[in-house]
Amino acid sequence: MTAQDIIENLRRVKENIAAAARRAGRSPEEIKLVTVTKTVDIERIKTVFEAGCRDFGENRVQELVKKQPLLPQAAWHFIGHLQRNKIRNVAGRVALIHSLDRWSLAEDLDRWAHLHNRVLHVLVQVNVAGEETKFGVAPGEVEDFVAALGDLKGLAVDGLMTIAPYVDNPEEVRPVFRELRSISVKLSRYPFFTQKYLSMGMTNDYTVAIEEGANILRIGSAIFGSRSY
Ligand SMILES: *Cc1c(COP(=O)(O)O)cnc(C)c1O
Repeated sequence: MTAQDIIENLRRVKENIAAAARRAGRSPEEIKLVTVTKTVDIERIKTVFEAGCRDFGENRVQELVKKQPLLPQAAWHFIGHLQRNKIRNVAGRVALIHSLDRWSLAEDLDRWAHLHNRVLHVLVQVNVAGEETKFGVAPGEVEDFVAALGDLKGLAVDGLMTIAPYVDNPEEVRPVFRELRSISVKLSRYPFFTQKYLSMGMTNDYTVAIEEGANILRIGSAIFGSRSY
């Protein structure tokens, strides 16, 4: 991928976002693109930064720690499973943690926040499809989970996140996105749950996610090409 290719990919992704938003009667401006930069080197990240991207997502602590200081003016998002002993490497570096997936992590994040006199912005990750291989709170447990978060004053609960199963036809995961949205609506009766963000939609399924109400998309390979690990 040359820098030119990446910029062209980005342009196409933004066009698709705008088209899907129009189809859904929504404004493209209300949809935040988080460019997922895992395995992507800093040069290519700077290419898309210069092309206007301001939000970047990493799912590995090690990569976040390496890259965030090289581009501190961007908003970094943590989107992966977070081990409790890595909290100190993540909490101070990111604008939003998308992957609050269990109670022990919530407690430790809250403890970090109080210790540093900060409020941490988080999304609750929901395993809507119940996949064994994925992390996330079960749909049937998310209401109790969120209700309990009200006691953790160090956390600002800004919404929900899900990772849909990988399928060839993204229409198949439309119900997953719809379900996340309906859970979010249900949770709106908790005053500390702001229902600000629905983080859903990746390369394979983001246009469907937009039609179902996503306002944060996490897109990597559609912009940078497929990843080689
Ligand atoms: C890698 C990753 C993405 C982006 O995936 P693409 O299919 O490359 O767009 C989004 N969300 C999470 C949590 C990821 O780990």
